[in-house]
Formats: sequence, C-alpha cells, structure tokens
Amino acid sequence: MIELLPENVANQIAAGEVIQRPSSAVKELLENAVDARSTKIQLIVKDAGKSLVQVIDNGFGMNASDAEKCFKKHATSKIKSADDLFNISSKGFRGEALSSIAAIAHVELKTRTPEDDIGTQVIMEGNQLVKKETIACPIGTSFAMKNLFFNVPARRNFLKSDNVETKHIIDEFQRVAMAHHDIHFTMHHNEHLLFDLPSANRKQRILSIFGKKYNERLVPIEETTSISKIHGFVVKPEFAKRTRGEQFIFVNNRFIKNSSINHAINVSFKDLISKEHFPSYFLFIEVPTNTIDVNIHPTKTEIKFEDERAIYTMIKSCVRNSLGKYNVAPTLDFETESSFNLPPIEQGKTITPPSIKVNPNYNPFHKETKGYVEENLDLIQQNFQKEFDHSNHNDYAENFSSFGSVSSPHFLSYKNRYVVTTQENGLLLIDLFRAHQQIKFEELKANYSNVNIITQKLLHPLEVDLSSGDIQLCVELKEEFLKLGVEIDQFGKDSVVIHSFPTTSTSIDARAFIESCLESFKHENTHFEHPYEKIAWGIAESYAYSRLNKLKNEEINHLMESLFSLASPKFNVKGLPILSEIDENEISKMFK
Ligand code: ADP
Ligand code: MG
Repeated sequence: MIELLPENVANQIAAGEVIQRPSSAVKELLENAVDARSTKIQLIVKDAGKSLVQVIDNGFGMNASDAEKCFKKHATSKIKSADDLFNISSKGFRGEALSSIAAIAHVELKTRTPEDDIGTQVIMEGNQLVKKETIACPIGTSFAMKNLFFNVPARRNFLKSDNVETKHIIDEFQRVAMAHHDIHFTMHHNEHLLFDLPSANRKQRILSIFGKKYNERLVPIEETTSISKIHGFVVKPEFAKRTRGEQFIFVNNRFIKNSSINHAINVSFKDLISKEHFPSYFLFIEVPTNTIDVNIHPTKTEIKFEDERAIYTMIKSCVRNSLGKYNVAPTLDFETESSFNLPPIEQGKTITPPSIKVNPNYNPFHKETKGYVEENLDLIQQNFQKEFDHSNHNDYAENFSSFGSVSSPHFLSYKNRYVVTTQENGLLLIDLFRAHQQIKFEELKANYSNVNIITQKLLHPLEVDLSSGDIQLCVELKEEFLKLGVEIDQFGKDSVVIHSFPTTSTSIDARAFIESCLESFKHENTHFEHPYEKIAWGIAESYAYSRLNKLKNEEINHLMESLFSLASPKFNVKGLPILSEIDENEISKMFK
C-alpha cells in the first residue's frame, strides 16, 4: 500500500517547513544578501508579501552557472562537508531556501558578479526553469518572489490578513537589520518607504528602528569572558512594557529564541518590575562558532549551546550588575506607578496573609436564579451585627475601615483593596480590583456592537508611541475597538491616538491599556471565546485600575451586588479567584 510521493508534492511539503508565510521568504532572502557581503540591501514588499517580496543587494552576486544552480535542492556555497556544520559563520548553510521558494512561487533572479560585465536573468515557476538569459544589470543580486503559494492554494488560505502578515515581515526585517547595523537597509511596502536605516553603530540602529526616545531608556550591558562576549542593552525597568514586544537575543548576529536566556533576564529583573510586565532587551552574544549547534531547526531560530549553564549564569550576573551600576534598582518605585500590579499591603510593612483552604466542591452560588446578596441579605446583616458590633473599638478592628449604611449589607473594605463580608458558615474575602474588572468585562461584552454604547470623547486625545508592528496590529483591530467604544487611529509614523473611551473616567493609562490589549492578541490564550473579549478585558482592566482607591462606599456596595448577581462570581474569566472563603473550622482553628 506504500507509494512514494511524486517529487513535486514532496518538494512542496519540504518547502512548507522553510517558507511558512511571506515573512519566512523575507528572512531567507535578506540573510542571503547579508551572506553575499552586501553593504546595501533593499526590501520591497507588495500586498503584505502575497504578491511580491523582492530583495536587492550589492553583494558579490553569482555567475551564470550558479544563477541556475542555486535553485537546486541542497545547493549551497557555504558548507562543503558535515564537519563544517560545527563551524558556521554564515546565516545560511542548509541550501534549501531558494529551492523551497522556487517550489511554491514564481521567482525572478537577476545577478552579476564584479568580475563579469554582463549579468544573468533566471525565471523559475514551481521549480521549473522558464527562462535563462544574459542581461545588463548592476553588480549584486535581485530576487523577486511573486505569487507565493500559487500552486498550494490551501497554504495561501492559511495566510492571515495583510496587516498581520506585514507585521511578521517587519519583525523579520528589524531582526536582520538589528543584527547587521553596519549594512544600509531600506524597506518599502506598497510604494511607501517604511524604513531607511543607513549604516550606524548598534545603539543608533536600535534608536532608528524603535525611536529616539529609547536613548534614555537603554542601559548598556557588557561582559567578556573566555567563552563568550555579551553586549547590548536592557531597557530600564520603569519602561518595561505589558507586552513581550522588545525581546531580542542574537547569537553571533543571528536572531534566536531561547527560553533559558530569557529566563536569566527575567530573574535579573525580578523585584524591579511587576508580574504583568516584561523586560525589554537587545542582547548580542558572541561565542566561538564551534561551541553552538545551529542546525536543530529548519528556520535556524533555535540553537544549542555547548555550555548553556555558563551562558545562563553569565547573563544573569551581567544584567543584574548593569542594572545596579546604572543605579536603576534603588530609585525604582514601580509598584506605585504605571503598574496594575497592586501592592497588597503598604510598602515596608510585612503582614503574613492567613493561609486559606478552600473546599473546591462547595459552591455557595449554585442557585443561579437569585443573586447571592438578595438571598443572603438578611443573614449577612445579622451575622455582621453579631460579629462586629462589639469589636469596633479593639485593635483588630482598626485595620479595617468599616462603612455601609444601616440599611445596606455590610461589606468592609480593607485598604480599598479587599472586601470582607460574612456568609452563613464563614467569612468571604473579595478582591475588589478583580471583582471590578470582571463586572466591567461582563458589561462591555453585553454591550458589544451596541450602537448606543456609551463612549466618552476625550478632551485631550491620548497619544501612545508604538513599534510599527504594534501600530499595524492596532490598525487591524480598529473596527473591533470601535465596537466596544474605543476610537483609535494611527497618528504619524510611530504612534496611535485614542479619541474616545467607553467610560467616564479621565485617568486612563492609555499606554498600559494598549499594551495589555496587544499582548493578549500576540499570544494565543484560551480564556477568551471571541477576539473582541481580549479588548474588553483590557478596557475593564484600565477602568478598574483608574477607579482604584477612589471607590466610595456606596459604589463598593453596588459593585458587590453586581458581583453576586454574576453567573459565576468566584472566578474571573482567566480562572483567577475573585473571592476566597474562610470557613468556620478554619476560623476556630486560628484560636486554638
Ligand atoms: P544557503 O543560504 O543555505 O546556502 P540558499 O538556498 O539560501 O541556501 O542559497 C543557495 C546559494 O545561492 C547560496 O549558498 C549562495 O551561494 C547563492 N546565493 C543565494 N542568494 C545569493 C545572493 N543574494 N548573492 C549571492 N549568492 C547568493
Ligand atoms: Mg540562504
């Protein structure tokens, strides 16, 4: 029953591993241009790469014979034997990029070496040579890839919207441009010049990609040992973002992903940024080529280090040192600023929280027809009277700010952060921020797409500067934002502006809001049923945060009522607890 796949099918399958989307071709073509020792490389893209990806370089070109041979499977000039695999200094070596591209697109190559007076043009369609002739052309190489996946419509259908694909292309372009700061790079998309990056030093290159504002945000990193050299920059903790955006690791000028190095940096930033923030970094690691293995993945974005532990330790200590040296650590007051991570207790004061055991099977809210508060109003009131009437003047009670008019149920707020109340057989502790966010989230969801949605024009539109990839994503999501009452627009080359917001609150942290929305779009997560819910969650978060510490007693009472009329008030949409119960047994144990 076994049959061998026809060659063209096998080729297409193999090609799919290397070229998954237009941006993969961008990466491969740019890297080939770098390997050709070019000093200027131009990237030209049309329709997010779906109709054209072209790379023009001024490198050493190819002669007439190589111009045809380069499209063959395993055709490479970069290694000769398996031994060379452990001494790789070029970007490419697998000899499969051009054959893959030729298998699934129309390719037009024009190339000339400095030694030749005349160049060669080669046209390939689905691995077939369609044309080869001599032509006049400048020294260097131009690859134009047209009609990607013309013969694999299923793959074409898997491509995302133009904005998403363009973002991927920009990401690849930036990575290569960052690794090779001494090369002049330009990028055009649909005739617009998106980037013009003349040869520069590393720092200037980063600034010209991410904006001049990074000048004061970067802390230099530098460390040399016998096994490696590490240099680059980390972004000061106070500029940490709520999106994983700017995390770049390069090993021997190759962009790579490595969770261990990422972990080392996260550890160095521990206590300097909140849990919701991610450190940003641009790290360049240089190691002898024979101490790494690049050949473990077709896209070469993962590598194996001979001594990963040593690299880990070294990065941890040198990042930590630099943060200390530049005096970043002690001046930080991150928790009170731009952070949603709420300090549970005043700083400097240590309080050991009681350990709370929750019976997972017990659900006081199983009755959905009637809200919890309505059902238990009397009980809550009686219990409150009994338990707290006589304790108003002791030390214990002073930690709580008591409020609530006689007629309302009794909810005590602790530091405007938690609410305490009683239930039939114990105490309930409610996380006020989480409750508020979940309630707002449900409200926004219910109003999605409602034309009468209450939105508030902002007196002063909020401007947020973003990377071009993030701007693309905002533009892409514009309609969804609007359906939830957020009016957002691109503003200039590197920022967006928010004109209106679905609340009356004036103190929205626009940057935190945008970053947290984008972050949830960049990473698959299963909490949300619909994409718009990610935006709603971001709005709810910003709203709850802007009202933090400002809630009046009546508002808290009102919030608690809303909470207990939710279908499931115990957990938020992400599965984190909104409330905790301390049952009678736990309480009596405390007094043994
Ligand atoms: P690899 O880069 O792994 O060697 P590719 O399929 O990307 O494999 O390229 C095949 C070969 O074509 C390269 O080894 C190189 O000799 C040649 N080549 C590709 N692009 C260029 C270019 N821009 N300039 C000069 N030679 C090139
Ligand atoms: Mg290559």
